[in-house]
Amino acid sequence: MSAPAKSVLNESKQIERAAMLIQMGARMQVLESETTLSYERLIRLYKEIAGKSPSKGQLPFSTDWFLTWQENIHSSLFLNIYEYLSKGVDADPVEVLTKAYRLYTEQVTASQLDCLLSFTRAWRLVKFVDANMLTRIKCSKCGGMFVSELYENARHFECGLCNPPARAGKSKSAGALMLH
Ligand SMILES: [Zn+2]
Repeated sequence: MSAPAKSVLNESKQIERAAMLIQMGARMQVLESETTLSYERLIRLYKEIAGKSPSKGQLPFSTDWFLTWQENIHSSLFLNIYEYLSKGVDADPVEVLTKAYRLYTEQVTASQLDCLLSFTRAWRLVKFVDANMLTRIKCSKCGGMFVSELYENARHFECGLCNPPARAGKSKSAGALMLH
């Protein structure tokens, strides 16, 4: 294949990928990181597909969000699905991410809970894990895998379901996690 034909093909792939990410609700940071398209190009695509300008502002760079109680349970659910799907051969990371995110939302919606984890957060979580800033740890009580900091003591770790904070499950808001 000639070089120009190749680059046209690659570009259409990039557009397809960007479109898929925009439909998932990805923010500009995700699009810039996961495609080779220019910023201006991405803005135009975003407006065309989402029907509005992308929201400005950076995402927080802290790992804290993923470690708070309910958020941690949602993050862990997503990451477990992601890790499971990543075991497939030659899986494209962006495809695994979108597939895992869809499964996460399906599972959460089926349980009549709100999807606390946005697509962009899910992407950020995978980046944190890749960068060894977060990992998964096995709960010493239930055996489930949960998102945690790297230096958590695995022998004594108890997840947010086995050992919820005192205020947990008191929320009356619909879609919040309740403990029975
Ligand atoms: Zn547990």
